[in-house]
Amino acid sequence: MKTENGRQNLVANVSGVRSLPKAGHHSKKTVVVAGGAGFIGSHLCDRLVQKGCDVICLDNLYTGDMSNIRPLLNHPRFRFVQHDVRTPVVLPGPIDRVYNLACAASPRHYQSDPVGTMMTCTLGARHMLDLACEKSARVLQASTSEVYGDPEVHPQSEDYLGHVNPIGPRACYDEGKRAAETLFFDYRRLYNIPIKVARIFNTYGPRMLEDDGRVVSNFVVQALRDEPITIYGDGTQTRSFCFVDDLVSGLELLMESDEEFAGPCNLGNPHEVTIREIAERVVSAAGSKSAVRHMPLPQDDPKRRRPLIDRALTRLGWRPTIDLDRGLKETIGYFCLKIFSSIAVSELSQVQLATRKSKQNTVLQIKRKPE
Ligand code: UDP
Repeated sequence: MKTENGRQNLVANVSGVRSLPKAGHHSKKTVVVAGGAGFIGSHLCDRLVQKGCDVICLDNLYTGDMSNIRPLLNHPRFRFVQHDVRTPVVLPGPIDRVYNLACAASPRHYQSDPVGTMMTCTLGARHMLDLACEKSARVLQASTSEVYGDPEVHPQSEDYLGHVNPIGPRACYDEGKRAAETLFFDYRRLYNIPIKVARIFNTYGPRMLEDDGRVVSNFVVQALRDEPITIYGDGTQTRSFCFVDDLVSGLELLMESDEEFAGPCNLGNPHEVTIREIAERVVSAAGSKSAVRHMPLPQDDPKRRRPLIDRALTRLGWRPTIDLDRGLKETIGYFCLKIFSSIAVSELSQVQLATRKSKQNTVLQIKRKPE
């Protein structure tokens, strides 16, 4: 079956999923991470496996990448199931926790299949809620600061109801995520299940895709290649960037918070910077010769964004600990390895190709000699 954009709709071969062996200790949990091969999801899987949980990772690999979870694949407490959350999932055995992170999060990717995005947000939320109901599990929704749209209130607290254009190109994601929050709170009212809703602000770090299209990965990749840094608009718009390790800690704390605390709970770094400043800091940290190229500002691009995190601080005792300098350094290190090792590999294959060709020529010459 094909989706609107021609990608394969991948359905879990659930009969092939065996129950995970229990980790031995009663407090060890079985956790489903939908979107677990993605940027944030794979870091969460790492953390949960390290803590002794049994992890079932669901992903349709639309923007998720097997390379993110490759080190986990042989781990006895980790299972990968290729599954699209737009279809219901049946999993054997007990499940204690369900994290729903399944959705492309970068404007480039979620806008390339807008109907698919809306369906992933809404049907995906419903199917993860149904799974949680069936298993009596806690369920956490990865919502987003996009529910605030282009905010008229600054900074944004959880009480702000948002300013979203329901018919613009970002709406498939923004409204999809808003509808998912509605489903979560309706399931709670109807079935009294323990839900958690995290509103995730801009997050960055290793394992973002090279072609992700979001600002930090774009600037880092451009800087490392000495290509022009593409600033959309004049670069005075702001965002607040949270390093992925901090974000994962926030998600875990929210999931394990008091049962009656459902959120929504902002998770993000309150340090606000302009896009122009991010460009300067990336160029300097990467030691790059890149110049700036201004490009048109996309439609409905939010002008300012900064989370108020008082709720996370008081309810979870959470605040980010990794500053932008350190986070950018780690991110640049990751992309440096990825980009330059792939160049090295492609150069190696050129050499191998040349060697093979010269060997073939030698063989031909040897074969020709007797004539
Ligand atoms: N942006 C930019 N150049 C890029 C990519 C993004 O100037 O190459 C801007 C974008 O217009 C927005 C901000 O950076 O104002 C953050 O964009 P991103 O796509 O990372 O996240 P979101 O808009 O969803 O917060």
